[in-house]
Amino acid sequence: MQLYNSLSHKKEDFIPREAGKVGMYTCGPTVYHYAHIGNLRSYIMEDILEKYLRFTGLDVKRVMNITDVGHLTSDGDTGDDKMLKGAKREHKTVMEIAKFYTDAFFADCAKLNIKTPDVVVPATTYIDEFIKVISSLMEKGYAYEAGGNIYFDTSKLDKYYVFGDLSEEDLEVGVREGVEADGNKRNKADFVLWFTKSKFDDQELKWESPWGVGYPGWHIECSCISMKNLGEYLDLHCGGIDNAFPHHTNEIAQSEAYLGHKWCNYWFHVHHLNTTSGKMSKSKGEFLTVSLLEEKGYDPLVYRFFCLNSHYRKSLVFSWENLDNAAVSFNKLIDRIVPLTKEAAGDIDQTEYDRLRKSFDDALGNDMNTSLAVTAVYDVLKSGANASTKLALLRDFDTVLGLDLIKKAQEKADAAENSAADIPAEVLELVEQRKAARKEKNFALADELRDKITALGYEVKETRQGTEINKL
Ligand SMILES: [Zn+2]
Repeated sequence: MQLYNSLSHKKEDFIPREAGKVGMYTCGPTVYHYAHIGNLRSYIMEDILEKYLRFTGLDVKRVMNITDVGHLTSDGDTGDDKMLKGAKREHKTVMEIAKFYTDAFFADCAKLNIKTPDVVVPATTYIDEFIKVISSLMEKGYAYEAGGNIYFDTSKLDKYYVFGDLSEEDLEVGVREGVEADGNKRNKADFVLWFTKSKFDDQELKWESPWGVGYPGWHIECSCISMKNLGEYLDLHCGGIDNAFPHHTNEIAQSEAYLGHKWCNYWFHVHHLNTTSGKMSKSKGEFLTVSLLEEKGYDPLVYRFFCLNSHYRKSLVFSWENLDNAAVSFNKLIDRIVPLTKEAAGDIDQTEYDRLRKSFDDALGNDMNTSLAVTAVYDVLKSGANASTKLALLRDFDTVLGLDLIKKAQEKADAAENSAADIPAEVLELVEQRKAARKEKNFALADELRDKITALGYEVKETRQGTEINKL
């Protein structure tokens, strides 16, 4: 496959170091709050990438960290402790917070059909590993102690700004607002590997180390967890574009200083999800979570479908209107699959199958063009292939797209059968009257009609996908 590599700023053939096998690393969440759907966009696109690599026959081992050590509000080394902030807000211990939000993260992922990586490592379980690597960096002269903390010395590297020509000025922009300069640093870009001087008197999680009781910096987590589980050479590292600097830049600095050779060959960065008023964040505007989407009646997979319709290297603008459009298209797509679930019989037409599969493969093989891959789904439906061939293709495509295309079509087909067969005409008539009342905004009448429907033993519900009638 051709994949854009942030290191070279161009599309390259993706060639794993060991034929047939891929080592893939993903920066995991900081578990002090729910993930917002902007973060989840990255995980959806990384999931598609992983599944596509598997689709092409590669054996992928994917590793992810969970940042459950108090890492700081800014991406720099100063600011508030996110975990502690979460704990205080909810009157819980830091570890209780971490457990709660780790579970919440994976629950959101499951709703979005995001596969859990093969290996998931909470940072707090790897403290010895961090100390080992930091000690080695000290011995090799890449790290120094100042003011009680251990810093990585970026002046020891030939090239620090590996992702682009960031100047000192950009660096200042990169470090977020409200952050004071750290006088202990020898160079502006130096970063903390180990803290013993916490800014917070009530820092909860601390460990013994050769440099005193303290806790690791954020960046060292990913380097150590990756190297320990995927070895000295990493094929592919993923993350949101906002992690490219300083987080990934620092990961490369310390990993390569430690290893003495190039560490990771391909860097995959997913761009931002923006709202109409700018970049999405936890602190600004409506806090957009998977639960909120559900509360508003959206199927979480509509959000996945929405993400698939644009390229991962472009910013995507989220609005409720855009999501509504995606919901309508998704619904129509499923409707078109429904008849296939009934008529699928006969042999697969191999020529048609190969031709249509190739267009899907070509789309994703070209730097993961997911919207073209979705077009390939429509091309299958439009084609003259028989139902068995179409279903086989959709099933294959969906191992990558993760939209539950056939399952949803099947459910819809079953529901349609049940409703036609079982729901009394009287109830259907009341439902129609209620729809009309709602359209005229006569909500009092709509409520009255709903009560009548309930009295007859049925429940009527409005969802983004239309009106649902269920037996009570
Ligand atoms: Zn990371």
